[in-house]
Amino acid sequence: MVLRERVSEHAYVFRSGLYAQVNAGLITTGEGCILIDTLPFPQETREIKNFVRKRLISEVKYIILTHSHADHVYGAYLFPGAEVIGHLLSRELLIRQTRPALNQARQRNASLAEVYLRMPTLLTDQEASVRLGDFTLVMQHSPGHAPDVINVFFKEEKVLFASDTVMPVPYFINGDINDLRRSLWAIHELSPVEDVVQGHGEVLLRGEVHSVMDSHLAYLDKVEAYAAEVFESGGGKEELNTLDLESCGLSSIALGGLVQQLHRANLYYLYGRARKLALKEQETR
Ligand SMILES: [Zn+2]
Repeated sequence: MVLRERVSEHAYVFRSGLYAQVNAGLITTGEGCILIDTLPFPQETREIKNFVRKRLISEVKYIILTHSHADHVYGAYLFPGAEVIGHLLSRELLIRQTRPALNQARQRNASLAEVYLRMPTLLTDQEASVRLGDFTLVMQHSPGHAPDVINVFFKEEKVLFASDTVMPVPYFINGDINDLRRSLWAIHELSPVEDVVQGHGEVLLRGEVHSVMDSHLAYLDKVEAYAAEVFESGGGKEELNTLDLESCGLSSIALGGLVQQLHRANLYYLYGRARKLALKEQETR
């Protein structure tokens, strides 16, 4: 069951009940709709499609894919008439990573049998805008979670669709922790903003945005320092598990507890990186 939330007069959020509370956004204009990401399973994205058709008596003209990860892009094929927009890097990542993963997922999950990937044909690099009806969406490159992430700012109603740059635990193992720092800081500095729609989980309200960005930046510092410390003191990977999310200032029950796996993956990744760096230093000595 998809949860539908109206975040401003012309913006909706649809949240997956089946996987990791993925959010898709919808902007409604007098000339059709713009969909920002889709939901992981066809039956969920179909709920969005039905809402647009039957409740809004409209159609989706554009789909903005905020990055190439499976949970956000699988539903685009359900809107064959819509133009797909994405970052320059997404196309290659969709072909190289998302497509083989989809082929495997299809074998495990019959409901994905009909899914095929749609490639973005309108591409953005650092910044671009889409204008439809009376509204403007500004897309900004926001790497860190993955190299191809873009966020989408609905200018007239001041809603930021932040993609996976903002989620209950910052997650960077497919991207770059320093890029993520810069991208979180850019959102911190964005003003005025009313709501921030995270890639996963609940919508952040204006009053929360700064403190959430601060806590996410502090989290990145904490896990990075901790992983380095464990490695340098000769500790094994299992020692990483002693740092829990609460002591990093974040909830350990968000996304149905999935955040704990993401947190552990972050720590393991950073520990692995510290080890690699040390080996490299040894070699060059
Ligand atoms: Zn995601």
